[in-house]
Amino acid sequence: MSRFWNSRTRALSPYMPGEQPQNRACIKLNTNENPYPPSPRVMEAIARAAGGAGGCGERLRLYPDPACRELREAVAERWGLKMEQVFAGNGSDEVLAFAFAAFFETGSPIAGGVVSADGFVTRREAAVLFPDITYSFYPVYARLWGVPYECPRLQDDFSIDYTSFLAPCGGVVFPNPNAPTGMAMSREHVLAIARYHAARGVAVIVDEAYVDFAGAADGASRACGADPLSVIDSIEDHPNLLVVRTLSKSASLAGLRAGFAVGNEELVEGLCRVRDSFNSYPVDRLALAGAAAAVRDAAYYEETTRKIIATRERVSAALVEKGYTALPSSANFLFIRHPALTGAEFFTRLREAGILVRHFNTERAADFVRVSIGTDADMDVFLAVCAKEML
Ligand SMILES: *Cc1c(COP(=O)(O)O)cnc(C)c1O
Repeated sequence: MSRFWNSRTRALSPYMPGEQPQNRACIKLNTNENPYPPSPRVMEAIARAAGGAGGCGERLRLYPDPACRELREAVAERWGLKMEQVFAGNGSDEVLAFAFAAFFETGSPIAGGVVSADGFVTRREAAVLFPDITYSFYPVYARLWGVPYECPRLQDDFSIDYTSFLAPCGGVVFPNPNAPTGMAMSREHVLAIARYHAARGVAVIVDEAYVDFAGAADGASRACGADPLSVIDSIEDHPNLLVVRTLSKSASLAGLRAGFAVGNEELVEGLCRVRDSFNSYPVDRLALAGAAAAVRDAAYYEETTRKIIATRERVSAALVEKGYTALPSSANFLFIRHPALTGAEFFTRLREAGILVRHFNTERAADFVRVSIGTDADMDVFLAVCAKEML
């Protein structure tokens, strides 16, 4: 605590990102980064965007396009949308933060209401719902903006019970597939949640950070933009549905910081109002060009995604064979449990062996660690350590 902090800053409990070690000696499986490089077209586009003879970056003198048209056009074209249905941001974390600010009401204490995890007293119907085990940034945004929330419990098999989100509330947000479990909810159930809340004017945010990894491992080729699990194709019929995507995971661009959301024009306009009250240029020239190039090169990413899915399935089967529990994953990570060690102990053993994974010290997740899928070579080292830990 500092005497210079105002009461809001004192009350914050910021998100703790996974470690980004500065020495390169370890095998880094802790932040769900992609082990493969981005499409070669990304760097070409970035060089072009910087501009100038001999790569002097002449165009960096100029502010970027505040409307982010280049990226929004690429997204609109790929998914057959209007540009007005697309919002671009500095990573999907920023898009999510804006969405909480734009669509979820600030809570006011009410006598006889429910008490949420952080002591908020509010009417139950005003709380935003997200699962009890999910992306740990959601409660951070909720507290930043003073939004009351409630966390319906995952079922015992760690799947989301979609009916627990069919209740009067102030909003809904969840990842599909969920994180850190990796488990997917069917499109039908996602849309049932959206339909339930549509008539009440309540926004439903689906965070599709990992949706590209839900495809079949057999590499069955699909039409550009026609993802089997995504509900992007349903925004036209569901005006309260906002779908959030990131370029950080399947597009191998975590270092660039680009994400987007698609939804009804009114939702997009709400996001723009928040952004333009905060920062007119959150997405820089290089990120706009690089992200747009990535969105346009779906063919390249189909190959890297197919490899990651195949590695995931191989590693998952090998772990189960050794006696580990691995939840069925539709993402680029596995949520796994050692049969005897606690999650914290297993995390430490892996760390001592030079492998960084993620451990969440919350009640029901504490026995597990989350392991990002790396290259086959990295995962073979990981499996060798896992085999040793079973002796
Ligand atoms: C990684 C992740 C994000 C954030 O992605 P950025 O675009 O890098 O900010 C959002 N939601 C979930 C569930 C994630 O795992």
